Amino acid sequence: MDKVEFYRHAVEEEDINAVADVLRGIFLTTGPRTAQFESALAKHLGVRFVVGVTSCTTALFLSLEALGIGEGDEVITTPMTFIASANVVMQTRANPVFVDVEQATGNIDVNQVEKAITARTKAVIPVHLYGLMVDMKRLRDVCRRHRLFLVEDAAHALEAKRDGVQPGQISSTACFSFYATKNLTCGEGGAIATNEKEINERLRWLRLHGMSKNAEERYTGKYQHWDMVGLGYKANMFDIQAALLLGQIPRLTKQLERRENIARRYEDAFTGMKNVSFPTVPANATSARHLFTIWVPPECRDEILWKLQSRSIGVAVNFRAIHLLTYYRQRFGFKRGDFPVAERIGDSTITLPLYPKMTDDEVGRVIAAVREVVD
Ligand SMILES: *Cc1c(COP(=O)(O)O)cnc(C)c1O
Repeated sequence: MDKVEFYRHAVEEEDINAVADVLRGIFLTTGPRTAQFESALAKHLGVRFVVGVTSCTTALFLSLEALGIGEGDEVITTPMTFIASANVVMQTRANPVFVDVEQATGNIDVNQVEKAITARTKAVIPVHLYGLMVDMKRLRDVCRRHRLFLVEDAAHALEAKRDGVQPGQISSTACFSFYATKNLTCGEGGAIATNEKEINERLRWLRLHGMSKNAEERYTGKYQHWDMVGLGYKANMFDIQAALLLGQIPRLTKQLERRENIARRYEDAFTGMKNVSFPTVPANATSARHLFTIWVPPECRDEILWKLQSRSIGVAVNFRAIHLLTYYRQRFGFKRGDFPVAERIGDSTITLPLYPKMTDDEVGRVIAAVREVVD
């Protein structure tokens, strides 16, 4: 039987043609398509500004740079995430401080954030795990009280909403990924959303060597000299990426509906199974439904994972708790027991296929395989 792939992208012929148009033109780097993509995404998100960059990792890093975070500072985040969320903190020479997660969702436990705050704390990076937003209104209140910046890792949460709030609306910045398996993809890419004019301006020069003019501005019309206004990086999104992304934006809502539908089928099928549970989505939230994970008994997780694979079901693990990875253990002395809820989730999780191109038959085969393997 054919494999049920873990992920298949939803790039259409019209997207490929849009890329071909760019390739047939003269302008391959950051230009008109990038600008169009930035305004289309800003509109979709209901924010004032979007800055296109090369990845979510650079989006997070440049956000911290724009906020002046560096040596000796502390940034609070979650150990239940992809390593990028915490690695970027160390890349600015600040230190990550982990706070354990909620059992029901795997998201950072907002109730525990306050007790991790010290005189050195400068920011919090909440991660909207699997597509469910952290309780941003409550976290924003905590951050206001302690004068902390809020940088959202919204790599999973492009289409998410909670209490009427979307990523980027009530934080300093929200960071998105267009990596190969994300809901909106161009292989590699990222973007930063913000409502703050000053942050937008800083990000625009930070993403391109501190240059005061981008290539389009330099070469369109009469030659203009450029200046360097600060020490920046090389992280600008370019028109080939933007062309691939732009046409996918209008399809996001329909694709979310399809993933919601598949996720509900999974939830119905697994409800009541003794050895399977899954994260809950609170009633006041619209999950972006980026990943569907099940939690199985930790002592048989790997066996179940391999058995699903041997039945031609594409699976992954998102994520093992990152404080237990070798580098983090060695550098910070973390050990098992430090963040027990994140550890439990990390040891019991299996991610199942979830994408709009999945057929009803494929969803049925995944469900049947899980039932068979787990019992
Ligand atoms: C994918 C992902 C990232 C990194 O995105 P890149 O675009 O690959 O840099 C960051 N955080 C989370 C939670 C992710 O899933």
